[in-house]
Amino acid sequence: MSATRREFLRQAAATGAGALVTGTIPLSSIAGAADGPVPPVVVSSANGMSAVTRAMEMITTGSDALDAVIAGVNLVEDDPNDMSVGYGGLPNEEGVVELDAAVMHGPTHQAGAVASLRNIKNPSQVARVVMDRSDHVLLVGEGALRFARAHGFKEQDLLTDKAREAWLYWKEHLSNTDDWLPPHGPDDKDIGALLPEPLRNEFGAFFRHSGTIHCSALDLKGNLSCVTTTSGLAFKMPGRVGDSPIIGAGLYCDNAIGTAGSTGRGEANLINCSSRMVVEYMHAGKTPEEACLEVVKQIVEHNRMKRLRDAQGRPTFEVSFYAINARGAHGGARIYSGGKMAVHDGTAARLEPIAYLYKKDNG
Ligand code: ASP
Repeated sequence: MSATRREFLRQAAATGAGALVTGTIPLSSIAGAADGPVPPVVVSSANGMSAVTRAMEMITTGSDALDAVIAGVNLVEDDPNDMSVGYGGLPNEEGVVELDAAVMHGPTHQAGAVASLRNIKNPSQVARVVMDRSDHVLLVGEGALRFARAHGFKEQDLLTDKAREAWLYWKEHLSNTDDWLPPHGPDDKDIGALLPEPLRNEFGAFFRHSGTIHCSALDLKGNLSCVTTTSGLAFKMPGRVGDSPIIGAGLYCDNAIGTAGSTGRGEANLINCSSRMVVEYMHAGKTPEEACLEVVKQIVEHNRMKRLRDAQGRPTFEVSFYAINARGAHGGARIYSGGKMAVHDGTAARLEPIAYLYKKDNG
């Protein structure tokens, strides 16, 4: 027997021969909800109450999970009051809004994404078209914009006055040796020397507002899909791309196992392939909540840079995960206490607390 054949049989024995040969994963190996018909469910980050409501309305009338989650997050992309996504999102360091988004469709195991996309308020829809009408998964910058234009997306200025003023405030308070000055009087010195309290986080570090919406769903046919869309880290370097448009980092979906996505420090998810790992932990039999918590632990374990650790060695940033498995169980986790996720299980939308690794002093 050749080594390859022996290895194949060894793996088959370890994983269950049926699973390896047919390529399907038995539902019984996925932990969580009870046996019986799989109930539809939609989850999202806490800013997604309207999104889960819209997505569940569509799912209960027979929509595919991907159509539903995209329609859900479009509400948040269109909302100028959510300054972390789409229209009204906080701009990059030059005052230009650059959006990232990705979608993943469970039944076909296809994905599409755009990064650093300017002037189009619904990057999740462009990501969908990348999936459906190109042979690629990810388009960036000018190429993504041209692709969007070719498909009839209309350009508009995404920078609201509120977002511009927040950016200007940040710029004017960054340094007392540059040319940008906040309002001041003739007797003021060291103008703009320090960002005031509201822009410092609980660790005393400069607070970079961030935010994103992730939305995952299980539809009436038992299919899974997900989307993540964001304006990314506020005041980022032009061209900076976070985890949100990267399949496996900011979202991932395997129709036979589960779907997961994230919000928070994208760099941590990029170096930990986090969303793929959440799905892999569900594959290994963990509940969605346990799987999310496992990845949170990995991120903390891998966070070796002192500049990103507090006095106790804990991260000075946050990352949150949201997941659903193929049996309809859902859960989430993040690093510090106080996190919530939006959930709709067909009866009502609600905010549920999510698991955490460390209790916040004030949380
Ligand atoms: N994950 C997003 C990014 O890094 C930001 C966030 O969710 O807060 O771009």
